[in-house]
Amino acid sequence: MDTQVIKIKSFTFNPFYENMYVLFDETGECVIIDPGCSSERERSALAAWIESEKLTPVKLLNTHCHIDHILGNAFVMDKYQIKLYTNEAEIENLRSADIYASTYGMPTPKSPMPDIFIGDGDEITFGNSTLKVLFVPGHSAGHIAFYNSEQNFVINGDVLFHESIGRTDLPGGDFNTLMHSIQTHLLTLPDATMVYCGHGSETNIGHERLHNPYINMQHS
Ligand SMILES: [Zn+2]
Repeated sequence: MDTQVIKIKSFTFNPFYENMYVLFDETGECVIIDPGCSSERERSALAAWIESEKLTPVKLLNTHCHIDHILGNAFVMDKYQIKLYTNEAEIENLRSADIYASTYGMPTPKSPMPDIFIGDGDEITFGNSTLKVLFVPGHSAGHIAFYNSEQNFVINGDVLFHESIGRTDLPGGDFNTLMHSIQTHLLTLPDATMVYCGHGSETNIGHERLHNPYINMQHS
């Protein structure tokens, strides 16, 4: 019997209230997803928690590269000497993130470019654990999500939210593309699948199937 258990820790950081996630298992290895830490206090909180849990970060993953999801990229990559994995179509967002940050009057710690491009069906491993990459564009051009079928959860960034969906009015966003991604890659998952979101509380596929107004709009 496989006793592997992935644990999920979230932090809500920066003025956009962005949820970042650290996934770890019994080996002590972890992956860091969408680090939004933007101040010394937030960076310290993340680092102190990782140290207290005696974790070893092995990969940095970005679901997409909007400014609120990448503010801590440079810090995490430098501190833990790990590589950045994201989809190739997110390069433009990474390049323009500084401009967005300046319009919000935020500090802009420039994110390094990705080291490794990942897309649909790729597998991300850490410790004894594996995450499957789902390509779910629409909120942004190269948005990806990370799915684990054994424990039935998905880290889905800004695609599906609790009774809502990601905005589609930013560059690279497209409503029909987003709904297609949700229909083909998320609503095909089991109802009990936990959905961890880039903003707000987590939800599950069954709840969204019933109560998400955007999904029900398409059925009516
Ligand atoms: Zn976003």
